[in-house]
Parts: sequence; structure tokens; C-alpha cells
Amino acid sequence: STVRLIRFPTALRAIAGPYSARRASSTLQNPKKDASVAHHHRSQTHHHHVSYSETDDAVPQLASQPIHRLSLADLVKHGRPPLSAEALLSSARFTLSLLPIRLAHRIQALRNLPYIVVSNPNIRRIYNNYQHSLSTLLPWQGRTISNLEDEIRFTEVLAELVQTHTDTIPILAKGFLECRKYISPAEVTRFLDQHLRARIGTRLVAEQHIALHYSSSPHFDPSSSPTPCPENPGYIGVIDTALRPASTIDSCGSFVADICELNYGVRPEWIINGNPDTTFAFVPMHLEYIITELLKNAFRATVENGMNKSPVEITIAPEPPSSISTPVTLSPPSISLGAFNRDHIQPLDDNAPGVTIRIRDRGGGISADVLPHIWSYSFTTFSENDDDNPPGAWSDDALSVISAASSGGSSIAGLGYGLPLSRAYAEYFGGGIAVQSLHGWGTDVYLRLKGVGRIE
Ligand code: ADP
Ligand code: MG
Repeated sequence: STVRLIRFPTALRAIAGPYSARRASSTLQNPKKDASVAHHHRSQTHHHHVSYSETDDAVPQLASQPIHRLSLADLVKHGRPPLSAEALLSSARFTLSLLPIRLAHRIQALRNLPYIVVSNPNIRRIYNNYQHSLSTLLPWQGRTISNLEDEIRFTEVLAELVQTHTDTIPILAKGFLECRKYISPAEVTRFLDQHLRARIGTRLVAEQHIALHYSSSPHFDPSSSPTPCPENPGYIGVIDTALRPASTIDSCGSFVADICELNYGVRPEWIINGNPDTTFAFVPMHLEYIITELLKNAFRATVENGMNKSPVEITIAPEPPSSISTPVTLSPPSISLGAFNRDHIQPLDDNAPGVTIRIRDRGGGISADVLPHIWSYSFTTFSENDDDNPPGAWSDDALSVISAASSGGSSIAGLGYGLPLSRAYAEYFGGGIAVQSLHGWGTDVYLRLKGVGRIE
């Protein structure tokens, strides 16, 4: 069959808007394209779903099924584009076999929160999003996706699902902040660590099928598509088999410098040294999320410490195969998630080459009283108004930052989710993040990423 290769990241970002930072930057680059494609897909989506009570009834049974332990082999088994129609259908069926169970587990976890917390309008909104998404998938259960028309409609449901859950993070952040009287920071961190790590996997599964669809579907109508790009044989779905971190750092660096310019009126500088030409196989959206958050922290510290003239130094070192097999130990290990740790993706190849990126700033470092808290969700020392609010966790001040974040604005800091969530992304494929502070001088952040392995 004739297969048209659409460079998927453009299509995917346009439809899915995977992460708010990324969305903001792609909108900066090409607002028209994004808007029109998103519109096209909204109008094409069929909103057939089952009632909420039927969805309610389905949850306990689905949530009693174990979560399939994702492997990279699962993500790449349908092969490099162009896919045969059969491979695309089988990818759709595989995706459908995973998602309802994953959503039901999340619904169950939300139901297990104290009732007063689930009653909070923001937490409720997230709960309803999950109920809604599950209700759009249930009609697909028990029937086989056997032709490309089904596959197109199923992909539309997936695109809507990904879109529905795009703004989850500021909404959850706001909800938990409003509930801080009723639930302890430790409980919140436990819930969020599970929830957000599970969300990474769920989005990855959905986005992988959407990406395969857009890179392969012979039925895809090019007239309504983003500009078709030259073939990009380096991609398998959302995985770039030759991702160059130096390029990601430069594009995220200019995006974060833009935010700094808006917030502080200065653009911090950065230099890249080490081995800037290193490439490895990884999910670009994940790397973009992590780098954006780490650069926000480094740039903010640099500016607030009055060190604008000292560029942030980013050193890229290819990681020899197998040296990343033990987790980074400089930072406290992330909360033990018991069975949930299994949600982390299984590498294709334990000897996959990876990369270590050191981000070194002269931002004054992190004081001993702040350091123990930096991995907690919602902990921030950022304050928008210089009032006499003591800085730290759970400040009311965070609410104004969150409002800015949920209305699509980009702030330099304030949610307190940057470090813990970046670590969740890094650990997803077996890497890690370590923070080394030299108080009074600056901070070194070591980001170690394990590549996703050999992909044929
Ligand atoms: P946020 O940036 O929204 O405050 P993060 O999780 O990204 O949340 O960081 C938590 C806190 O860790 C920050 O508020 C800051 O106090 C501290 N921190 C992180 N990175 C740095 C850095 N490079 N230099 C100084 N402090 C840092
Ligand atoms: Mg931050």
C-alpha cells in the first residue's frame, strides 16, 4: 500500500499537546498549524460512549486485572513505518487491550482517597476525566478492530483521550493544595508518585499508537494534515532512535530563556560541552519535559543569585553500555511503590547505551534546610509576591502560580513538581536524577538516561 510518512511529532503535538511546556513552545513556533489540526480532530471525533453508571460498574472488574508490564518490545514490535495494515490493526488491538485496565486502576486509586478529597472540584474534574475516557473505550471492548475504518475511529478516540488529560498536572496540584488540611504531604506524594508514573505509561501507549497511525496510515488524508515532512526513518512511533540531546537542550534553552525574559527581563546563557554529538534512542517528549524543568531551575537560580554573566554549563557524556545498571544514589531513592514499580518499562536490552547530562549552574546552591524537601510534590521556594510568606511547601502563594499555569501561561517555577516529575520520567526507562549542591556557589544536576535499546 502507498504509505505517506508524516513527521509524527508535529502531528502528535498538534493533536495531543503532550505536555504543557511543550505545547506552549510548539504554539510559539507554529500557532496556526496547531490550532487547525486540533480543530480538525475535535470536529471529527465521535463522542459515542456508554453511560457513567455502566462505566462505574465496569471499574471493579477491570481494576482487578493486573496492569500489563510494558516492555519496549511492546512499543516497537509493530515495526518501523511504513507499517502494513495488519501491523497497524494489531497495534490498535494491543493498545485497546491495555488502556481500560490502566484507566480503571487510576479510577480505583482516586476512589480510595479520603472522600472529602475526591469531592474537591479539581480532584473531581480529574476523576471525571478518567470516567469519561473509560466510557469512550468501553464500547470498543468485546469487538475486534478489524479494518482501517475502525482503526481511524479508534485513533480518534485515543487522540481525544490524550487531549482530555493534557492539563492534569496544574489541576491536581491545585486540588491537593486546596485539600492540604485533610491529607498529609506524605500521602499526597505517595498518591501523586503512583498516579503520575502510571500516567506516563498510559500516555506513552496511547501516543505510540497515534504516532504509528500518523506515520503509516494510508487512509490518512494529507490535505488536512500538518505539512508532510521528508521521511524520517529515525522514528518508531514516539521513539527517536537517534535523538541528539544537544539539540533538545538548545531548543528547550531558548524556550526557557523566553520565560526568563518575561519574568525577570534577562536571558540567561548556556554552553554545551562534552560530547555534543552524542545520540541515543529515547522518547523526545520525555527528554524535552525533563530538560525544560531542569533548565527552569538552573536559570531561575542563576538570575535570582545575580549571576547572569555566568552561563549554565551543560556537559553531555555518552554513557558506556551497562554502566547505568545501578540507580543513581546521590539523591534519596524515590518512594518505594511496591508492585507499582513494575509499571516501569522493561528495557529491550540491558546494555543499551545511554547518556549522562550534567547541568551546572552558579545559582548559589540549595541550603541544607531546603535540600531534604526538593523531591516532594508541591515543595517550592518560589514566591511571586515578595511578601512575608515563609517559603516552603504548601504555600497559598502557589495557588496564583497554578492559576497562571492552568490558563496556559508559562511560569519559571512554583508548582514544585519539576524535580519529582522529571525524576519519574528519567526512571521510567531506568535512568535517574541526582542533585549535588555546593551551597553558596551553585548546583550540579546529573541526569542519567538509559537509551531504549537496540531497535531493529
Ligand atoms: P519549583 O521549581 O516549581 O519550585 P522544583 O521541583 O523544580 O519546583 O524544585 C523544587 C525546589 O528545589 C525549588 O523551589 C528550589 O528551591 C530548589 N532547586 C531546584 N533546583 C535548583 C537549583 N538549580 N538551584 C537552586 N535551587 C534549586
Ligand atoms: Mg522547577
